[in-house]
Amino acid sequence: MFIAFLILLIVILSFVLIRLWSKRAALFAEIDRQKDELLGIVSHQLATPVTSIKWYLEMMQSGDLGELQPGQKEHVGAMQSITTNLADLVTMILDVSRIQLGKVKISKQELNLNEFFKEILDTILPKAKEKNIVMRVSLPPDLPMAMLDKRYTRMTVENLLSNAVKYTPEKGTVDFAIERHGDVLSCTVRDTGVGIPKEDQSKIFGKLYRASNVRNKMDGNGFGLYVAKGAIEAQGGKIWFESTEGKGTSFFIELPIK
Ligand code: ADP
Repeated sequence: MFIAFLILLIVILSFVLIRLWSKRAALFAEIDRQKDELLGIVSHQLATPVTSIKWYLEMMQSGDLGELQPGQKEHVGAMQSITTNLADLVTMILDVSRIQLGKVKISKQELNLNEFFKEILDTILPKAKEKNIVMRVSLPPDLPMAMLDKRYTRMTVENLLSNAVKYTPEKGTVDFAIERHGDVLSCTVRDTGVGIPKEDQSKIFGKLYRASNVRNKMDGNGFGLYVAKGAIEAQGGKIWFESTEGKGTSFFIELPIK
């Protein structure tokens, strides 16, 4: 009798605990959702004034508001680069909140892939040169026109390439290869850098996640890969990687282009 009562008590207690736990989990999920919504609203509100500041600085720099002295030009140039970084961060936060809330809006447009990748390389090659990194590019000259979301795809490829350069020590190598297999475009970014420790690999696409070997040692915020994964998957593609700590990392993307 006592044992039956004890079992009944345990069952009731477990039931109450499970209910309390699931209520707590639902509450946390709701708080998380509200936080992402707030982030979305704040970054959306910030985007307009930041863009206006960028325009005004551009007008100052080009002399539309009167010629600047050389010293003033230099300061306006510095403000421009700070504002560009700020604008990129605001956009990144907005993207994170959209992905988290499942509200990514893909707008595909026809892209000339050769021009598209060359534009990206124009921003990356100087950074690689600065670190004496050898960049080997394999870009077939006859890539077709492709239907892709330009902003998201550019952001993803740029992030993979700038990570490869950032996480590869001086005199290393970064390979960038584009291939087309029917209606699928594949992109590989391979580096001889610091690699990603095994224990961090399953979490690397998580929001704000940074691996233990770079955390507090190299600049970064851990937004890029989270947005990259959201951006590629929202276009029906795949993104994955292989890495060995101390040896290097390869990131792969596959995207349908029709
Ligand atoms: P960030 O580079 O700003 O920290 P990302 O989201 O782009 O953020 O990358 C997340 C993490 O993935 C990085 O902090 C780093 O630990 C790891 N990572 C990404 N790319 C590489 C790479 N090419 N080599 C080594 N680690 C990488």
